[in-house]
Amino acid sequence: MSDITVKDKVFTEFISKKEMNLIVTSLAKKVETVFKDKNPIFIVMLNGAFVFASDFLRSLERPYETLFVRYSSYSGMQTTGNVVTSEIPEVVKGRHIVILEDIVDSGLTMDVFKKNLTKMRPESITLVALLSKPSARKVNVSIDFIGKEIGDKFVVGYGLDYDGVGRNLPAIYVLKE
Ligand code: 5GP
Repeated sequence: MSDITVKDKVFTEFISKKEMNLIVTSLAKKVETVFKDKNPIFIVMLNGAFVFASDFLRSLERPYETLFVRYSSYSGMQTTGNVVTSEIPEVVKGRHIVILEDIVDSGLTMDVFKKNLTKMRPESITLVALLSKPSARKVNVSIDFIGKEIGDKFVVGYGLDYDGVGRNLPAIYVLKE
């Protein structure tokens, strides 16, 4: 397994580029089977989900609408518990919404986002999370499609950063203790 240094920390490869590809294409297939005739809107959670969403959306066979919102709660390697939000467009009203999220950790970000989205009265809300850390949960969030469950460890790569660095790495790396 190869190690990589991101700023002042050493990380080791955890989920290979090949495995990421299999996880994402299989997720996309499952989600499209359910939503292909429902005219869904995909909402990409920036910044972290941009790589996941880019591969996921390009694995879908039909054309769909895509929106982007920016929610953040992380600073460095920790969740701050304070979720910074951006506005959700009105077009979600009455539509089937599929959220694309990079990772659900404490659950606080998704809890706030789903509540705000519900206020906009969509027809349905479905959460697709590439990664989930069930043992780190502080609030209960129901995830409809999960790419992979991981332990309570800090990871970088495939869209996820350590203090702004490492989003470009094609595999997922875990912090070396
Ligand atoms: P939560 O609100 O569930 O605690 O955290 C959600 C957000 O925190 C994720 O969308 C992600 O951007 C960031 N995050 C959570 N865990 C990790 C992690 O292990 N590594 C990185 N780089 N970001 C994380």
